[in-house]
Amino acid sequence: MGILAGLLDLLYPPRCAFCRRVLKAGESGMCAACAAALARPKGGGAQTGDFFSVCVSPLYYEDTARNAILRFKFSDATGYAAVFGGLIADCISANLAGRYDLITWVPLSGKRLKKRGYDQAMLLAMAAALKLDDVAVELLRKHKDVPAQSGAGSAEKRRANISGVYAAADEELVRGKRVLLIDDIITTGATLSECAKTLKSAGAAEVLCCALARLRE
Ligand SMILES: [Zn+2]
Repeated sequence: MGILAGLLDLLYPPRCAFCRRVLKAGESGMCAACAAALARPKGGGAQTGDFFSVCVSPLYYEDTARNAILRFKFSDATGYAAVFGGLIADCISANLAGRYDLITWVPLSGKRLKKRGYDQAMLLAMAAALKLDDVAVELLRKHKDVPAQSGAGSAEKRRANISGVYAAADEELVRGKRVLLIDDIITTGATLSECAKTLKSAGAAEVLCCALARLRE
């Protein structure tokens, strides 16, 4: 370890993304206790939706996982991308291996990106792809900023809220391909459905999804 890295570790010891305890030697991203205790949906908790065949998730959106994801999304905890991306990659390997040609993500609008400074789903997709020895490519753009889905209310309203806000970034690349779409949280599935619809309109053969966390049924 370099002197600078050693000093930084002393000043800011790496902490578990979930419980925030200082990590022990040999632990990376999350502590052994959290790795053992996190509630994980069986078989990725596969769920279906309009325009996508399946969505799998490595985590339930609750307890320490929920808090960690909120810090990642809203409090600049971008360092969590590696551990979250690792969980996504493991979930993809276990449940969707060999079923997709391209990896992409649900993008933020330019306005939101400017405000937040980072696109959390892009970070997840890039970290997961890296772990899978693959690359994530930009296939969607959000060309209209709409109120956050979390405040949009019923499933019906959520669908109406985002209808037509995405566009394919590269139709030529998408045509005939099976696309794996990555996002942070799946709730009603309205956002993933709208993105999948856009990709299918651009010629995608199939859309499969992996969201870092899902609700418990
Ligand atoms: Zn922990």
